[in-house]
Amino acid sequence: MTSYDVAVVGLGTMGSFACCELARRGLRVVGLDRFSPPHDRGSHSGGTRVFRMAYAENPSYVPLARHAGMLWGQYAIEAEVPLLHRCGMLSIGEPDSALLRGTRKSSEEHGLSTTTYASQEIRKLFPAIHPSADHIGIFEPEAGWIDVNAAIEATRRLSKLAGATLLDGCPVLDITNRISHFEIVTPSQTIAAERVVVTAGAWCGQLLSKLGEPLDLPLQVVRKVVLWVNPLEPEQFTPQRLPIFAFAERFFYGFPTVFGPDVKIAVHWEPGQTVADPTLGTDMPTRDEAIPALKQAAKYLPALAGPLPSAFARVTQLKTCLYTMTPDEHFVIDRHPEWQNLVFAAGFSGHGFKFAPVVGEALADMVTLGETSLPIGFLRVGAGRFPFHDSY
Ligand SMILES: Cc1cc2nc3c(=O)[nH]c(=O)nc-3n(C[C@H](O)[C@H](O)[C@H](O)COP(=O)(O)OP(=O)(O)OC[C@H]3O[C@@H](n4cnc5c(N)ncnc54)[C@H](O)[C@@H]3O)c2cc1C
Repeated sequence: MTSYDVAVVGLGTMGSFACCELARRGLRVVGLDRFSPPHDRGSHSGGTRVFRMAYAENPSYVPLARHAGMLWGQYAIEAEVPLLHRCGMLSIGEPDSALLRGTRKSSEEHGLSTTTYASQEIRKLFPAIHPSADHIGIFEPEAGWIDVNAAIEATRRLSKLAGATLLDGCPVLDITNRISHFEIVTPSQTIAAERVVVTAGAWCGQLLSKLGEPLDLPLQVVRKVVLWVNPLEPEQFTPQRLPIFAFAERFFYGFPTVFGPDVKIAVHWEPGQTVADPTLGTDMPTRDEAIPALKQAAKYLPALAGPLPSAFARVTQLKTCLYTMTPDEHFVIDRHPEWQNLVFAAGFSGHGFKFAPVVGEALADMVTLGETSLPIGFLRVGAGRFPFHDSY
């Protein structure tokens, strides 16, 4: 049986960074993935992700986002490929909406540089955006978008350069604790590893619920739909004239035309279909699933696709992607309560990508040092987040 210091199960967003960081620390690392990342079957499909630091969800994320921003820059230099493009982001809505209040709070508490614009100023500066008269916008110049495929490809390349073994098409079926080591069971081989990192995304719930004292985390996998629209007035949607935008109303968000001529849009706070077993794949997106985002676009970005139903004709592509939700929508990064040499990162609730380098570092610290000094305490299982896990 081949043996390693560490096995990383799941080499998508978080796993690819954890694998790279562990290999750089001189450990013999094997990374396994059921597919061949980057791919469209998990949580990183769709090409782009928002990076922001003025974090409406909770100011505790700000130091992590700041550190992640620095790490994105370092990875880009090492991989010699741009990863984070800081084009700025505008959050728009009523001043006392949750998005605007939260963005302001995080920005003030952590001294982030942001500018607040009135509705008429937004229309003048960013002509594609037609906010309501009572809306304001908070612009964060250091926010931007991350090139998903470049990021995952870069960390895979850097992992291999640092000596890691990457096994694609290799689903982990089971992990057995043999006291001195773990046995990682795949359809073609069993691998021994002293320590394990589980970063299996939408499959984390399934996998973790099988191990030792079962860790039944309350994770719910939800299918989300994103779409690409060919704009009626393309010149208004270029990165020179439009930042990333998000509206407080249902968290309707989108990107300027960064890859090709189309604008990517989606509604973050839109209920999606629950997925019982992601291994079975998800339903193809339907035309009707474009309606929530097209309705918001018709209201706030009239030059994108115009009103429904003619707006449908502007849609060039629909894709699905999986959120793994926790009840409080905060991530879970911790150690298995019984198997101390197994750590995991799960439940990224639709907003984890921007933190991938920092999650990779935290997991590598937990494996190599036993703890991390990164401020991730609020993401642990304990602290009353999930009442049946008070033993943590
Ligand atoms: C539509 C959408 C938009 C989003 N927008 C943003 C955004 O703008 N900003 C942001 O920060 N975040 C965003 N996110 C969230 C972010 O993309 C996710 O939080 C992040 O990708 C989760 O990473 P992960 O490593 O947990 O999952 P994944 O990247 O899916 O990786 C998990 C990997 O584990 C593998 N795997 C699973 N089971 C096994 C097994 N048994 N054996 C081996 N391998 C296995 C899978 O094949 C997969 O490659 C968005 C998500 C979606 C769906």
